[in-house]
Amino acid sequence: MQINQPTISTNGDVRPTYAEVNLLRLGENLEAILTKVKPFKVMLILKANAYGHGLRNVALHLADRVDYLGVAVLEEGIFLREIGIKTPILVMGGVWSNQIPQYIQNDLTLTASSVERLEQIDQAAKSLGKKARVHLKIDTGMERIGVHYYNAETLQNATLARCGNVDVEGIYSHFANSDSADLTHANLQLERFNEVLQFYERHSLPTPMRHMANSAAVLQIPESYFDMVRPGILMYGVYPSQECIKSIVVKPVLSWKSRVVYFKVVKPGHPVSYGSIWQSDHLVRVVTIPVGYGDGYFRSMSNKASVIIRGQKYSQVGRVCMDQIMVNIEWGTAYNGDEVTLIGESGEERITVEDLAGWADTIPYEILTNINTRVPRVYVK
Ligand SMILES: *Cc1c(COP(=O)(O)O)cnc(C)c1O
Repeated sequence: MQINQPTISTNGDVRPTYAEVNLLRLGENLEAILTKVKPFKVMLILKANAYGHGLRNVALHLADRVDYLGVAVLEEGIFLREIGIKTPILVMGGVWSNQIPQYIQNDLTLTASSVERLEQIDQAAKSLGKKARVHLKIDTGMERIGVHYYNAETLQNATLARCGNVDVEGIYSHFANSDSADLTHANLQLERFNEVLQFYERHSLPTPMRHMANSAAVLQIPESYFDMVRPGILMYGVYPSQECIKSIVVKPVLSWKSRVVYFKVVKPGHPVSYGSIWQSDHLVRVVTIPVGYGDGYFRSMSNKASVIIRGQKYSQVGRVCMDQIMVNIEWGTAYNGDEVTLIGESGEERITVEDLAGWADTIPYEILTNINTRVPRVYVK
């Protein structure tokens, strides 16, 4: 399975529409996080093509500087092993039983989210003559995967009783609302997780490695650091939400660039693009940019987005097409080949992932993870 093979043309230049990933900034963001959470460990979250930044290059750049890597699905973990990553890797998603042997063969840590799953993992490990490494997943208030906090003992007991081929290395939970200003629910989840952890003290057992904090909790809830934290979006220089306390300074890692490929003058009363939802009442210059919803530039941003050309912000007009957008430069200047900034800085102007999320009525996470593989990633150091 190919996870991150951007379409870079083989004979010369890359496509004019590309995402620039600044590895230096990525490293600086990681340093800022490491400094803040010291002495606790860090599991770097690399799911969804490293939040759109390119799994291969982000992993190769950072894997040696962290204690653990976290991905969502088995195939992401296998991909990391295939490119030679030796750092421990936790697959955080639910386990599909038929795939269990592949986790074990690739030395990936499984998430055990029920007694049944734990036993299946134990059986599979036994058949392979290996030990499976697992982290128990406790649901403290997300109602996604994981055993409910009020039933956690059944899972904890099962690990003791009859799972000789399983090494329970960790135990973890996940916040539903750590990014809001009101941390009532997050604190409730924290309290529940702490209660679940008392099991080990009560039974005088060693406590597995505990972890709970996503980016928002790293920023806002130091009591949730436990043994290890799991930052994702913050690493990439984007804050989890607007209300979140920005207790660590990070800077955006990704810029999205394109170029003007067409220029025309549009007369009043001549609507632009599909559905004819936009037209000018005066003569304007309109340029075409080769990016569209087929690249992850969402159609829902139609008539709302802006881009930067020659240091000036201009409005995208008419419907976003699959492969192209049109921009009204009024009577400004732009030539074929001029750089267009879709996300990033240019001159005095700046367009953020948060801006796009606002125009598309979504969150920054969805913008980043949808910049698809048709958009080449270019890495700068
Ligand atoms: C995605 C994810 C994270 C990281 O979330 P951010 O908000 O990007 O920091 C941490 N833990 C789990 C279980 C996740 O699924």
